[in-house]
Amino acid sequence: MALSRKLVILHVDGLSADSLEKALRDGDMPYLQHLIDAEGYDLYRYRCGLPSTTPFVQAGILYGDNTEIPSFRWWDRERRVVVQFGTGSTFEKVADKYFAGCRPLIKDGACIAACYPGEAADDFGIAYQDRSYGRQAKSRSAANVLVPYLANPVHLGDWVWQTLAVFGRTAKDYSLARSVGRHPAPLYVWTDVAEEIFVHHLTRYAVQKAMREGYSPIYAGFYAFDETAHAFGPRDASALRVLKHVDHTIKKVAAAREGRYELVVLSDHGQVETTPFAAAHGSTFGAVLAEVLAGFRVQEVKGKAYGPPEDEARGHVTVTKSGGGAHVYFADRATRMTYRELMNRHPELIPRIAALRQVALLMARDGEEDVFIDAQGELRGAAVKPLLAQYDDPDILFEQLIRLNSFRNCGDVIAFGAFIDGKQVNFENQAGGHGSIGGEQLHPFVLAKKEWSIDTSRVNAAHQLHPILSRLRDQLASTA
Ligand SMILES: [Zn+2]
Repeated sequence: MALSRKLVILHVDGLSADSLEKALRDGDMPYLQHLIDAEGYDLYRYRCGLPSTTPFVQAGILYGDNTEIPSFRWWDRERRVVVQFGTGSTFEKVADKYFAGCRPLIKDGACIAACYPGEAADDFGIAYQDRSYGRQAKSRSAANVLVPYLANPVHLGDWVWQTLAVFGRTAKDYSLARSVGRHPAPLYVWTDVAEEIFVHHLTRYAVQKAMREGYSPIYAGFYAFDETAHAFGPRDASALRVLKHVDHTIKKVAAAREGRYELVVLSDHGQVETTPFAAAHGSTFGAVLAEVLAGFRVQEVKGKAYGPPEDEARGHVTVTKSGGGAHVYFADRATRMTYRELMNRHPELIPRIAALRQVALLMARDGEEDVFIDAQGELRGAAVKPLLAQYDDPDILFEQLIRLNSFRNCGDVIAFGAFIDGKQVNFENQAGGHGSIGGEQLHPFVLAKKEWSIDTSRVNAAHQLHPILSRLRDQLASTA
């Protein structure tokens, strides 16, 4: 008779299956290697789908439903609000539209540092880069976790030391990168990195606490690798050093299993090396749009505004950027514009943007038909497949793209950054990014025991992982 086991799932943000394999080969994640060598674990690849970004993937994993999450940030035409996560999260303004009737993976468990509450009983006061969401019945304030954590001098010393160490090395890496002519993302990004290291430690502490209190399942997000990879690129030495911290954290959590818990480690998406659009083009994407759309006020979310002042504008455009993907919304409208209407009203827009060397592909929707536009012109439906072969399996990528294109919350037109000299043009100011098509960003992993016989080979979008993990949870919980 097998013993009933509880489940703890650790989410390592932004680490692709390829990057994990490389880290294992290079000895950067010795504990994960130990899990594979000595505890019967195996690495299972899956496809996260589009957009390759945390809110989309995590919704899929936690609820089994990630429809209408078109980007890391998007414009909700009905509520007239920019939906975004992280500091100043606005998801709660639209949360009532999501996840009705879902059976959350971690219902009545603990959800720590995730984008969504997941109907968990407790969040230990830590939501995803935002310590104020807490709606769970037993949600405690962050102070409740923070005070005992900091009261322990071992924790405090650990955190201060690691933060200083990361900060110092990051500063050194930054000047080194500059001196050899590379362009890491600006300094403000590594204050995020330092914050992430702190939140990382706090999250680890909360997971151990949740395990002591017997919650199951426990789901916890660790974002320090993703943050560092955004700042320096996923293969940079700083990002690899953060992976060692992540490995150490997994080891600590694993040590708290005490035969009661089983551990799954997974990632949500990968990253690719990127070049910021503004550096590649000379001006920002918003400025380019404002030039084409004379008289329109173009607002880049988390960026600048372009064109005439508010009251003189003949219309408003909102651009939400998410790594190598960008959504363009005509913000005065209540519904998504069709391709035909877009071409009638603004005949220059699509041809001009599609002709940019920095843009690989545009996607719009004409009634029920998917329209793809590149510098050569327009392709309808499956006719785009030969063009997609350079990015991934064209049949799968096509299905991923048209699923995204079916979301009402998409921009009137969606742009995907081109790969130039092996780096993807990123609409944000980042050295590593995700959210778009091409390379490792669409290929995350699940690290699980072979004896559980999970099969992720047909998972082409993250919501298809939900039934697999839910089944595992139930299988472990049953004692028969
Ligand atoms: Zn990211």
